Amino acid sequence: MDILIKNGRVVDPRSGIDKTMNLYLNQDKIAYIGEEKLPAGVVLDASGYSVVPGFIDIHAHGEKVEDSSTAECLLRQGVTTILSGNCGNGYTGYKTEVIEREKQGLFQNWLGLVGHSFLRNLVGVSDRYIEASSREVEEMKEILKINLKEGAKGVSFGLEYNPGASTGEVLNIISILADFPGSLATFHVRYDAQKVEEAIKEVITISRLSKVPVQLSHLGSMAGFGRMSNSLNLIENAVAEGLDIMIDCYPYNAFATSIGTAVFDEGFEERWGRGLEALEIASGSYKGISLTSELFKMIRKTEPDTIVIAHVLQEEEVFMCLKHPLVMLGSDGGFSLGEGHPRGAGAFPRFLRLVREKKLMPEKESLLKISWMPAKRLGIHTERGRIAEGHQADLVILDLDRVREKATFQSPTLPPEGIRWVLVNGKIAVDNGTLTGATAGKVLLNK
Ligand SMILES: [Zn+2]
Repeated sequence: MDILIKNGRVVDPRSGIDKTMNLYLNQDKIAYIGEEKLPAGVVLDASGYSVVPGFIDIHAHGEKVEDSSTAECLLRQGVTTILSGNCGNGYTGYKTEVIEREKQGLFQNWLGLVGHSFLRNLVGVSDRYIEASSREVEEMKEILKINLKEGAKGVSFGLEYNPGASTGEVLNIISILADFPGSLATFHVRYDAQKVEEAIKEVITISRLSKVPVQLSHLGSMAGFGRMSNSLNLIENAVAEGLDIMIDCYPYNAFATSIGTAVFDEGFEERWGRGLEALEIASGSYKGISLTSELFKMIRKTEPDTIVIAHVLQEEEVFMCLKHPLVMLGSDGGFSLGEGHPRGAGAFPRFLRLVREKKLMPEKESLLKISWMPAKRLGIHTERGRIAEGHQADLVILDLDRVREKATFQSPTLPPEGIRWVLVNGKIAVDNGTLTGATAGKVLLNK
């Protein structure tokens, strides 16, 4: 055997296994779980630690292959698989992307989405406030189809970023997914705050008419303005009707996006009931400064990619979301050369800490939301998302009583505390907070 992980508390939330045992890894797989002691090349003493399935992040970013800061920070959190390309960002040349990533080496397993915003750009819809023509929609569908054939997981929409994209445009594009079993459509919905119910109803209609599995992205940041209960009710009713809709959420009461996006079009202060004082510039040459309305307008124009963090969400609403049975964790993590929202380096340990300190839910349920649930949603559950013999050895060895995020809004990339080792496909990728340099991740194609 290659690796023995001895005396750890082995917790597989799917099967209910929760017992001090030994775990043997043979190459990239879990070969044996039990009491026996067999010879092994490397021994990791997990006494005092829990051994849990590697975390699966169903809502990640890090679209730029040349900037690995997102992948590295997610890995230090214990994230062994990510779905990248959410919120309309995604990819439009999947095969090339895959080749590029494999050449560079992957820090964790990777699945990607085709981004609707990228599709619009590619076919020349440069104005986000206009609807694509029928010819442009046909072109987008062709490109999407090619990407799906090349193994992309699905398509992501960032409707808030493309106010001009009509429901018809979305329905037309999404219809392609019907020919690709296992594919998924993710939605950053059209409106937040007061109009979020309207935006969710639009996605429910799209789900009903297209019959495509839908993932509602970061609901906490869309509905966490006193709208969570209504929003969850709407989705529950849709699911009761037979629609395939699930949700992700990150455990922070602040969101982040680029200053130049339509999110900050006129009226956002009324929408959130908060003004510029709730905004924080998190990247670029204006990082850390206090905003005046002149400055805000100027940066929006001259440096539209500047990341802004908006401290406008209600914590109790975010907790309500995290607790809901349709909700799994998604970091929404994405750094630009190490700058951005701390969720990219802290979402998973923060979630586990909040579960522990605020007693949000039983430990087992919290582990399901970061392993088995997203594995199932992504259709990778026959190989990942649990600790079982024959499964891929994606593992986190951590102290569940102590794990916590260290990343803050001031220092957003700090690695967490309490995570001893992270293994990706049987290779030790993180040792005591430090990356070992192993790039053992695999591209997981939709099949
Ligand atoms: Zn988004």
